[in-house]
Amino acid sequence: MRSYLHEQGGGRGSERASLVSEDVRRRNLSLVTLDLLENGPRSRSRIADSTGLTRGSVTALSAALVEAGVVRESEPLLDGGKGRPVTHLLLAADDVAFVALQLDADRAEGVAVTLSGDVLARRTQHHGRPMGRPELILDVLAAVATQVLADVEEAGRRVIDLSVVVFAPVGGDPVVVLADTDLQWGRVDVLRGLRDRVPGLPASMRLQPDATLAALAELRLRPGILDLVYLKSNSGIGGAAFVDGRLVAGSHEAAGAFGHLPVDFAGDLCDCGQRGCLVTVAGPDVVLERAGLRPLMLDSGLTLALEELVSRIAAGESDAVRAWHDAAVWIGRALQIIVRSFDPAVVVFGGYWAELVDTLRPAFLRDQPTLVGADTWAVAVLEAGVLGQDAALRGALWSARAAVLEEPLLLDPAR
Ligand SMILES: [Zn+2]
Repeated sequence: MRSYLHEQGGGRGSERASLVSEDVRRRNLSLVTLDLLENGPRSRSRIADSTGLTRGSVTALSAALVEAGVVRESEPLLDGGKGRPVTHLLLAADDVAFVALQLDADRAEGVAVTLSGDVLARRTQHHGRPMGRPELILDVLAAVATQVLADVEEAGRRVIDLSVVVFAPVGGDPVVVLADTDLQWGRVDVLRGLRDRVPGLPASMRLQPDATLAALAELRLRPGILDLVYLKSNSGIGGAAFVDGRLVAGSHEAAGAFGHLPVDFAGDLCDCGQRGCLVTVAGPDVVLERAGLRPLMLDSGLTLALEELVSRIAAGESDAVRAWHDAAVWIGRALQIIVRSFDPAVVVFGGYWAELVDTLRPAFLRDQPTLVGADTWAVAVLEAGVLGQDAALRGALWSARAAVLEEPLLLDPAR
């Protein structure tokens, strides 16, 4: 009788071995490419020295990279007048650009960078928040994309990756915006909308939510930190959690939707259908309304109204302080739940909360467990995010670049 645990097929061992060696080869290709990116043109033996690879593997790996057009050889150079002339290897794929577009409650933005991270183009346009009219906002996003692509072309480069960052949850296949309460959107296929409006978009395009990317960017700035929770508020409330350096995505990719933690069981009904979600008691619209800043938000946009809120709180203006204090109590409560769930070393605050961390700390600390030892329940450090408005854009560009450096043959112009 066949074992219940019998593995299908006889070649599993060798298949696994070849997968492992393919992984090793990919990592080594990446090492050589990264070395040339960081140190500029150099000889094969210097690459071998700095990467720890053997001279023979560097020769084989660079042959594959030369064939793919990612790397090329220089003319033979005389090395200090002694010995034989040597050829240097240099990055040939120096004509690429990465583009990230960002759509928030007020505007569309686009940034293009080189492989080494230099900014080639940056464009912004306000869309005036036409509620429930995605086609008008997609027109503005398409106009920004067209400008950025023209800038990249003028710089003599080709776009190999384009990411679109939205301040809303995304999902499905193809990936679409599921709902955007700030713009009164239901499902909107943003990538399709862009393709219909802008010719010459790259084959590789991604749609990603801002909070995950901003969290990734903040994590990268904190070497050695593996357990981090990111919590932000600008458009709504969102976040992400990393455990052991890995993003907790969840089985529906919905982990980190901290704005919908139902903190107040007797609270108002949320747009999501639950009662008393964190956004219903501490969302930006609620806080701005209570602070008397709703007219400014409608008039000048969410970003500007939140900046005004922060400066009024700093100035001690009573309506603003009271509105913020009411919200901070709930944020502190939500934070206690989040910290108990993930046990992070650090909680990083983004959006306008980054400027108010000091005022959130008391709400978080006032009710901590005391029954067990301080080591077991060590309290997470609360920190302000340092990347401001650009956090998600930078996260998008970083992850696009990392994907290419992990798989340098993606740079092959023939692909
Ligand atoms: Zn909700």
